[in-house]
Amino acid sequence: MLKDSKFSSHLLHLSQLQTINHKTLDEYRDRLKTYEDYLWFGKPDQISAIECSRRGWACKSNDLIECVNCHAQIAAQLPSVLKKDLYTECIENIFRSLVDSHHRYCVWKFMIIPESIVQLTDIFSNETVNTLLKEAEIFLSRIHRITIVGQLQTMFQIEATDFDLLSSSHLNDPHLLSAFKILVFYWKFNNSSLMCDKCCREIHIDMNHLTFDPILSHRAWCPILKNDQWKKRIEQIENILYKTSRNKLSNIKANNDQMEQILPDIISTQNLFHELISSKEYYRSCVQ
Ligand SMILES: [Zn+2]
Ligand SMILES: [Zn+2]
Repeated sequence: MLKDSKFSSHLLHLSQLQTINHKTLDEYRDRLKTYEDYLWFGKPDQISAIECSRRGWACKSNDLIECVNCHAQIAAQLPSVLKKDLYTECIENIFRSLVDSHHRYCVWKFMIIPESIVQLTDIFSNETVNTLLKEAEIFLSRIHRITIVGQLQTMFQIEATDFDLLSSSHLNDPHLLSAFKILVFYWKFNNSSLMCDKCCREIHIDMNHLTFDPILSHRAWCPILKNDQWKKRIEQIENILYKTSRNKLSNIKANNDQMEQILPDIISTQNLFHELISSKEYYRSCVQ
């Protein structure tokens, strides 16, 4: 009992945690950074790097985590997945340990980082796209050249004219689009590095010429890679851009309808034009 009270005086208490939110989040990210792919490999969702970090655990070495507050440790070597029952039981035991193994006075026995911090947020408004564009402009002001490599080269086909629909202030600069394509996938620029907001991988970059794969640069367990979340993000961006394109097109069409009463011959040619090309291409032909 004496040992407990002496020990507990060194522990972080609940009241302290509630007054240091920003510090608490920074410390959560510091814990998350310790989960290198090769140290915490092949762990299921229940005991993922994120779940362990949310409960105060940092990775110390291969399959070994330690509480940053009470210094309790959990060894997490899993049996083969082929031994299904044993494998499932082992995961459940480790999952329970994430709470039970803390010292009785350790704050992480009672606390958890809110799920909202780790959840991915959908992009559903022009405002979000414009905010990302503004961040991309700031990013681009610090770096000379950007080359995107990997699957995004072919999978995320957007053009400067798409963005002109949202804001006329953005220049037709392919490097701005590349900067945008990086920031869409949770990368934050800070001094001379990029860091993922979700898996906390930090990558120091060449400020003269950045060659970057915005997808595979994440840690293997990053939520953006899970269930192809990054592909959904591309769809969300494209939906916003094309929806705005369609609105613009309907305005153009309304103007055309007014003209139709005056110039029927010209409009019949335009209708044919509408049928031959997609709406997006049509809009581009109008704005160029
Ligand atoms: Zn603890
Ligand atoms: Zn990540």
